[in-house]
Amino acid sequence: MNVTRKHIISLLIILIIFAGAISVASAYTGTGFSHNVPTSKYHDMSASDILSKYSKTDCHVEESGVCTQVVDGDTIYLDNGEKIRFVGVNTPERGVEGYITSKNFVQKLCLNKKVGIDVDDSKHSDRYGRTLGVVIVDGKNVNEMLLKEGLAEIMYMPPSEFYPYDWADGDTHVASSHSSSSSNSQPTSAESTSSSDSANYVGNANTGKFHVASCNSVSKMAEGNKIFFSSRDDAVSQGYVPCKICNP
Ligand SMILES: [Zn+2]
Repeated sequence: MNVTRKHIISLLIILIIFAGAISVASAYTGTGFSHNVPTSKYHDMSASDILSKYSKTDCHVEESGVCTQVVDGDTIYLDNGEKIRFVGVNTPERGVEGYITSKNFVQKLCLNKKVGIDVDDSKHSDRYGRTLGVVIVDGKNVNEMLLKEGLAEIMYMPPSEFYPYDWADGDTHVASSHSSSSSNSQPTSAESTSSSDSANYVGNANTGKFHVASCNSVSKMAEGNKIFFSSRDDAVSQGYVPCKICNP
C-alpha cells in the first residue's frame, strides 16, 4: 500500500515535470519559428525586392566589411575575420525547422556584399567573442527584417543599446507592391483586434497555412505572423494552403 502510494506520487511528479517541459516547449513554438517557413516564399524575391519593403534605419554604420560567410540566420563572418552575431534576435539552429529559410534569407541579403554594423554600445560582444550588432544593408536593418518576416524570434538580453520589441511591431515597415498582404502581416494590436473580429480565416505568414478563426493553431500563433482573410478564396489566392486539421 505504502509502496503503491510512493509509486503514484513519483509518477505524479514525473507527469508534472513532463507537463512543465511540454508547456515550455509550446511556449517556444509560439514565438513563431518552430514551423518551417517555405523557402519558396522568398525564392522569387531578389534582395532588392526584400529591401524595398523596408525604410531606412536610424542605426549608424560604425564599421563595415564584406560578408564572406553566413553561418545561420543570425551569425555571419566579415572579410576581416570578425564574427558578427545579430543582436536582439534569434534564428533556428542547424537541424531545427526554419534554419534553412532564415539562413537563405540572410545569404540573399548579405553574402559577398558590403554590410555595415552598428555595434551594440552597451555590450560589444558575447561570451563566444562574437561582435553584437545590427547588420545594415543598403541603409536598412536586417535584424528588424528577420523579426518582421517571422524568421527570427526576439532575444532581448539587456544591457543592450537596442530594443528589439520596437523592430517587431514598430511601423517602420513600409508597404510595397504587395501592400495588402505585407501590411496585414504586421498588424498593430488595434488593427489585429478589429480585423480578427471580422475575419473568418487566419493565415500564418510563417507556415503558409490558413485556418478557420476558431482553430486551435490560431490561438498558438504569434501575433506578428497572423494574416486575416475574410474569405477562403482570399486566402487561397494569396497562396495559403488549408490546414489539415480544421479543414477551412
Ligand atoms: Zn487549423
